[in-house]
Amino acid sequence: MCASRILPARPRFRSRSPQPPRRSTPALERGALPELRLYYDALLTAYGPQHWWPGRTRFEVIVGAILTQSTSWSNVERAIAALRRENLLSPLALERIPTPRLARLIRSSGYFHQKARKLKAFVHFLRQHYGGSLDKLFATPTGQLREQLLSVRGIGPETADSILLYAGKHPVFVVDAYTRRILERHHLAGGKHSYEHIRQLFEQNLPSNVPLFNEYHALIVHTGKRFCRKSVPQCENCALRPFLPASEELRP
Ligand code: SF4
Repeated sequence: MCASRILPARPRFRSRSPQPPRRSTPALERGALPELRLYYDALLTAYGPQHWWPGRTRFEVIVGAILTQSTSWSNVERAIAALRRENLLSPLALERIPTPRLARLIRSSGYFHQKARKLKAFVHFLRQHYGGSLDKLFATPTGQLREQLLSVRGIGPETADSILLYAGKHPVFVVDAYTRRILERHHLAGGKHSYEHIRQLFEQNLPSNVPLFNEYHALIVHTGKRFCRKSVPQCENCALRPFLPASEELRP
């Protein structure tokens, strides 16, 4: 995927009719939704590489993926810094530390009792099934490993896919609330907002490429935080504005 792909001189939707075609049932076969490639090019051209995931090791990425549930990244960074200070950023160290002490150390990430138990559940799973080896874990075929991760307490689809993509370099697309919101506002999800539907939408309409999936998700998060806000989207300054369906133009 090339950053220099040229966007259409006139926006696809806005240059046609006042009412863009609604995709009530978007086709999922490969290449059926070319907008997704154009969106990526526009975002990368506008905002550049995002250099995700901000973790020093694979295990730190996994810890971050679990801790970032329902909180901001700055809170996660403080929790990870506390774990690093105590030399706890390894599966063995996290297995050995008592859960209450772990919870205190990650307090800044919120829901810290739950998250301590989730971290414990992951390292327990890693030891039981892979002898504590991340190399063995990530050598597992993608679909099989995804199922296994989803069976670990506290690991849902977004966390599992973040671990697979950003720590394990497996080609899975990570879907989050920003992804759903952008697709909904651009009429690309066909009214279906389940995690699996949207994940398949991306995976079946883009090359199965780890750097592409890595960058695309990061760019979506950037767009969601800066422009595609929940109540008042800042479309005027957003790189995806040229693709906004005409019926969405009345948004404030
Ligand atoms: S801010 Fe507006 S143009 Fe940008 S992604 Fe959201 S709805 Fe689209």
